[in-house]
Amino acid sequence: MRFDTLAVHGGERVPGPEGSVVFPIFQGTVFTSEPGESYHDIKYHRLNSTPSQTYLHDKLAALEGAEAAVATSSGMAAITTILHTLLGAGDHLLINDVLYGGTHDFITGHAERLGWEYTVIDPHDPSSWEVRENTKAVLVETITNPLMRVGRLREIVEFAREHGLTSVVDNTFASPVNFRPVVAGFDLVFNSATKYLNGHSDLVAGSVAGSAELVERVRHTQNLYGGSLDPHAGYLLARSLKTLGIRVRQQNANALALATFLSQSPKVAAVNYPGLPAHPDHGHARDLLTGFGGMLSFRLAGGVAATETFLAALTVPAVAPSLGGVETLITRPAVTSHAGMSQADRAAAGITDDLVRLSVGIEDAEDLQADFANALDKI
Ligand SMILES: *Cc1c(COP(=O)(O)O)cnc(C)c1O
Repeated sequence: MRFDTLAVHGGERVPGPEGSVVFPIFQGTVFTSEPGESYHDIKYHRLNSTPSQTYLHDKLAALEGAEAAVATSSGMAAITTILHTLLGAGDHLLINDVLYGGTHDFITGHAERLGWEYTVIDPHDPSSWEVRENTKAVLVETITNPLMRVGRLREIVEFAREHGLTSVVDNTFASPVNFRPVVAGFDLVFNSATKYLNGHSDLVAGSVAGSAELVERVRHTQNLYGGSLDPHAGYLLARSLKTLGIRVRQQNANALALATFLSQSPKVAAVNYPGLPAHPDHGHARDLLTGFGGMLSFRLAGGVAATETFLAALTVPAVAPSLGGVETLITRPAVTSHAGMSQADRAAAGITDDLVRLSVGIEDAEDLQADFANALDKI
């Protein structure tokens, strides 16, 4: 079955309980047990084993093309649970030089206390990929924030295999519509399901997918660390997953149209979108991804003052952080997502004060373009 069919039918129980076509929420925490059942077979929310949860896990696994999946209470619960599963004291991890802020802060702020070592790598440059005797895993992101860089992910997979490392990728910005990491050979993929997977900006969740053996290890860690997903949030997430393909394809198309439009304006100094031929990663991103995603960033020629005028003149997008919802959101990372970094660190990462980041929604492309054209006319 292809992606959109799996989104609707993957993981569904046929017939559903009482003949229900829509899988219901099992809110209860107490289920009778069968003789001989092991502790991990007991149905309990924290053990990630209730019918609502296993239904969602099967749908997520189907969408990822993976043997198994587990939902988590947030994207951060997904990554911290993965790392606590893969690493012990004395182990070494390779990390992408650009990481989601929370992931970066967790690793840099807690690795020492946990006895983990790490080295920063450039996923574009294999000469920076150095393994040690104690290296256990490599962690990268498919499309990085906010310059939308796409690393040499196929080469990362080969490198990890060659050295016996577990390869882990945060696929939040691409979503499984545009890239299916497990199919491409990654051992584990995780998502902040808060973003595209849910896509309606109304819940926080995460997902982890991979081989049955690895996902079972992650689930056991999560059973003890406690980051399981509430069944009501899981119900909303499963409901959203059914429209993931049509939402993200519209977001891909809208983002490409807006990026192209902006790149043609003399008032725009730079546009960062891997779908544009001028993007440094366009060539291999085109081979790797089936769509370039709904995220882009740009800079106006007029600097911060023009940017503030421009943001105030827009009527369709909300000025807000976060991403992946059906509504277009626009933000200035220097004063929101990356405000915690020093100006020098931001400059090194290409996050100038006038950089604007856009999460493109599913509105009509012509309405978005007209709104952006009107705001450009105001500066
Ligand atoms: C939001 C985000 C996370 C963290 O997810 P939460 O659901 O907020 O915990 C991790 N990675 C990326 C790329 C994100 O955008």
